[in-house]
Amino acid sequence: QAVFRSNLSHLLELVGSGKESLIFMKKRAKRLTTQWALAAQRLERKLGGARRDQKQILVHIGFLTEESGDVFSPRVLKGGPLGEMVQWADILTALYVLGHGLRITVSLKELQSNLGVPPGRGNCPLTVPLPFDLIYTDYHGLQQMKQHMGLSFKKYRCRIRVIDTFGTEPAYNHEEYATLHGYRTNWGYWNLNPKQFMTMFPHTPDNSFMGFVSEELNETEKQLVRSGKASNMAVVYGKEPSIWKLQGKEKFLSILNKYMEIHGTVYYESQRPPEVPAFVKNHGLLPQPEFQQLLRKAKLFIGFGFPYEGPAPLEAIANGCIFLQSRFSPPHSSLNHEFFRGKPTSREVFSQHPYAENFIGKPHVWTVDYNNSEEFEAAIKAILRTRVDPYLPYEYTCEGMLERIHAYIQHQDFCAAPGPSPPGAGTPQSPFVLAPNATHLEWARNASVAPGAWPPGHSLQAWLAEAGRACTDACLDHGLVCEPSFFPFLNSQDAFLKLQVPCDSTESEMNHLYPAFAQPGQECFLQKDPLLFSCAGASTKYRRLCPCRDFRKGQVALCQACL
Ligand code: UDP
Repeated sequence: QAVFRSNLSHLLELVGSGKESLIFMKKRAKRLTTQWALAAQRLERKLGGARRDQKQILVHIGFLTEESGDVFSPRVLKGGPLGEMVQWADILTALYVLGHGLRITVSLKELQSNLGVPPGRGNCPLTVPLPFDLIYTDYHGLQQMKQHMGLSFKKYRCRIRVIDTFGTEPAYNHEEYATLHGYRTNWGYWNLNPKQFMTMFPHTPDNSFMGFVSEELNETEKQLVRSGKASNMAVVYGKEPSIWKLQGKEKFLSILNKYMEIHGTVYYESQRPPEVPAFVKNHGLLPQPEFQQLLRKAKLFIGFGFPYEGPAPLEAIANGCIFLQSRFSPPHSSLNHEFFRGKPTSREVFSQHPYAENFIGKPHVWTVDYNNSEEFEAAIKAILRTRVDPYLPYEYTCEGMLERIHAYIQHQDFCAAPGPSPPGAGTPQSPFVLAPNATHLEWARNASVAPGAWPPGHSLQAWLAEAGRACTDACLDHGLVCEPSFFPFLNSQDAFLKLQVPCDSTESEMNHLYPAFAQPGQECFLQKDPLLFSCAGASTKYRRLCPCRDFRKGQVALCQACL
């Protein structure tokens, strides 16, 4: 039985020290102690004493090991990426607060000793019993485990969770399929259950959304923010001088400068970075609490297009700023942008921070074309007239993160024998029935899934997407999210029949877009390999058959009955 913890001093010892990155994480956990404790109390009440099993958990932060080069630690104080550090700090804290047994490793030696693998015995032919129920790691750590766990790796890989900022789509995860169809990546093909990859923002629901937290203001603080806002102060998003090299920035910066006082937090050593214009008040890289204070005063937080999808815009909005960002047209992706090249996703990114655009939006978030001076200037003027209150989506509060990780730990099991995965012909009888208005399928009232199935069946609907539309988008069109774990129940001739799709023929093949209907030949296609079920992906050739589910307000990772 796991018991919530509110005192973090033992966690701080567990994290260790010596690296700037670890110091940053500890400071963060310590600063947020009260927020976590309050959140734990609230969640405990909400769960009403439901039993929570205590798990033994290993967290191996691969990118911080010397063996993988540890390029981050030396850059923590120099404007390098901090988003990953924020996320790992919050994952560690959440696991600890939830009351699980925790071990943390940031070197290969520690990893080996915790796994019970004697050094130099990585290729040991015997499987060593694994003393952990769960292992959280990253792609670097995954590689290290594969090399050093011998046969145990294969046996226990289902216990691994991979923290993977931008996500890994099923087509890139499936080794044979990716190799055959050119889904190239720098990160390898691991044939894991795609839900074992955990992302920083809710990208494709093929992966699990892990997230992080942003500090939440209480009523008194909100009041202080309201009264203390400078009406014309803008802070630029980005700590590295390179973001100021953006072509064409002079135009929009000079417009912004007409209306607002521009501040920056760009790292510099001794001299002002030459990339930052003289009219910008640069504070240098600030410690996190001081950065928050700056955001509390500012009216506007403005992005220049990079970095993509970091924590800072959420923090800005939580501190009462409006976030202004550029729209990308055409969208950025692994096909046209260096940053995404080799990443295991085909996702198209339509703005610097798609989560802010799609999940938060106006009045907090304004997404405009920076090349269009009139549109840009009109936005600045409108923003100056707009009043907003601090806002933080529930899923980024401490309570929201605890709730989500709690649900994953209690319900996600990738070691269990696969459910009804119908290779070839598919389940003969689909548990869905046609909805009364004949637009989609609903879960039949008398249909049951295996006891304990998660999410439960009645949160499901199945829709036939328009041609060229991915299941991720098709479900959103109906106010739902795609739920890949329910593909097996749709992957049958019977499902097409119930939807009254006129299949002239039905074939079963390996294709991440299947099950789908191809209009020209009136052909229906079923998925041959369950590992390839994918919410992401679209082709104008196909109308995809999509499993969608409802979700809790402010917590898209969980269905309404998922707690
Ligand atoms: N941050 C900071 N000092 C600053 C600017 C930002 O400590 O001067 C923090 C900020 O609070 C945020 C983190 O850096 O939590 C990561 O921010 P960002 O969104 O820039 O993502 P990154 O590119 O670093 O991953």
